Amino acid sequence: MPTLGHFMAGRICPGTSGRHVDVYDPSAGEVVAQLALADEGEADAAVACARAALPAWSALPPLRRARVLFRFRELLEQQRETLARLISREHGKLVSDALGEVARGLEVVEFACGIPQLLKGEITEQVGSGVDAYTVRQALGVVVGITPFNFPAMVPLWMFPLALACGNTFVLKPSERAPSAALFLAELLREAGLPDGVFNVVQGDRHAVDALLVHPDVAAVSFVGSTPVARHVYETGTRHGKRVQALGGAKNHMVVMPDADLEQAVSALIGAAFGSAGERCMAISVAVAVGDGADALLEKLAARVRAIKVGHGDDASAEMGPLITAAHRDSVLRHVDHALAQGAHLVVDGRAYRHPGRENGFFMGPCLFDAVTPDMDVYREELFGPVLAIVRVPDFESALRLVNGHAFANGTSIFTRSGGAAREFAHRVEVGMVGVNVPLPVPMAFHSFGGWKASLFGDVHMHGPEGVRFYSRHKAVTTRWPEALGAEFAMPVNR
Ligand code: NAD
Repeated sequence: MPTLGHFMAGRICPGTSGRHVDVYDPSAGEVVAQLALADEGEADAAVACARAALPAWSALPPLRRARVLFRFRELLEQQRETLARLISREHGKLVSDALGEVARGLEVVEFACGIPQLLKGEITEQVGSGVDAYTVRQALGVVVGITPFNFPAMVPLWMFPLALACGNTFVLKPSERAPSAALFLAELLREAGLPDGVFNVVQGDRHAVDALLVHPDVAAVSFVGSTPVARHVYETGTRHGKRVQALGGAKNHMVVMPDADLEQAVSALIGAAFGSAGERCMAISVAVAVGDGADALLEKLAARVRAIKVGHGDDASAEMGPLITAAHRDSVLRHVDHALAQGAHLVVDGRAYRHPGRENGFFMGPCLFDAVTPDMDVYREELFGPVLAIVRVPDFESALRLVNGHAFANGTSIFTRSGGAAREFAHRVEVGMVGVNVPLPVPMAFHSFGGWKASLFGDVHMHGPEGVRFYSRHKAVTTRWPEALGAEFAMPVNR
């Protein structure tokens, strides 16, 4: 049984705290590794490595930092299949899905390779007579990334390529449930020529996170995970003087207007609700059926949900894999039971599903609810599993009110043939990412990703231009080269 450790100063280090946790293959339901959990001293050691590497790395010309990322991009491209298999084994998602995750992460590396252009400042000649002004963006220092289980490669890749490109050094605290991808990425960065200590991985749970959040040498924290932890990370980090962006949970609605192409809407819903077993922050978990098209939508949807093929990650014909742990699967099942008790109508019941030959795997089948109302827990809470709830509303205004009334506001979409309805929805909806006939409106690497309300704590979204802003700070320089300089006591002004 392998024991996975940390990565500090360019080397894999075994854990010294004596604390370990089991890492599972969710398809088999078996332990595949032991993971060392860091204590405060190990978190401190990781920050010390990043601190020591900072002066030389931040002083490098951006072009030379970009060249390391170009080499990393090539290696990642070559190793994408190996990385996808590693992700699939610990997460349970299909290899094809994991390949998509790696591809989306790779695009952020490609964006970060343009850092010499992205860091360019502004200059104004003659802000006053003989006076020029320019602005630059400089590195923050040691930056920490804390990431969830559901995208073991993509979410770290949302963070560290841009953080490193901007001249920061990095400590990644990946999810303890899917820890290998982080170590794999660390090895690739080393192979790409990244100097030791610039990128470090500290494995751990809340103890490691809490140590990093209060560490005096940490300048900024990027977090992605559930809303209660996001709130904790934001409040603790900012209280300790750090710049924090903390992305939280979601409950994404897809509004299906009566004029929508039903086949398209159903196909979109199936993939967006049940892909990756619903364990995506952009998964659609609420279908808002508008007007008198609801019965037809339900009928088509139910047939497709019943036909979903559940399987393990390597099964090329499968459409959905297991959940991350037995405990998480059981929590989703309890939510389904509770929704039934609250009066929702379970049209497709996947609760009893066990995968033939892998009975210990953390599988459940897809579930479809009709007659869900906004007061039910299945509507209000994030289940993070393969459960889709249909809420029926009479018209567009009620649909918009419903979406805007939810505490979460990560992503949403509308399916319609009306440009007017689509435009009105995109303009008035209070959600961070919006799709029009696009079920998962995940912004590309050169745009930025983030929700609103309980889905994001902080002001700045992730990757893209917002990422550059988050990982750098603005400096304004005013210059004058006078022949002679006299004292001025009044505020200088242009006359
Ligand atoms: P999680 O909140 O349990 O864990 C996220 C990270 O926080 C992990 O590294 C974990 O070790 C750490 N952590 C957990 N509990 C902690 C605590 N009490 N104190 C300090 N640190 C703690 O999330 P998860 O279950 O790994 O991931 C699923 C969640 O992430 C879902 O809610 C999903 O919506 C969300 N998510 C959001 C986005 C987004 O972009 N908004 C993207 C992916 C996932």
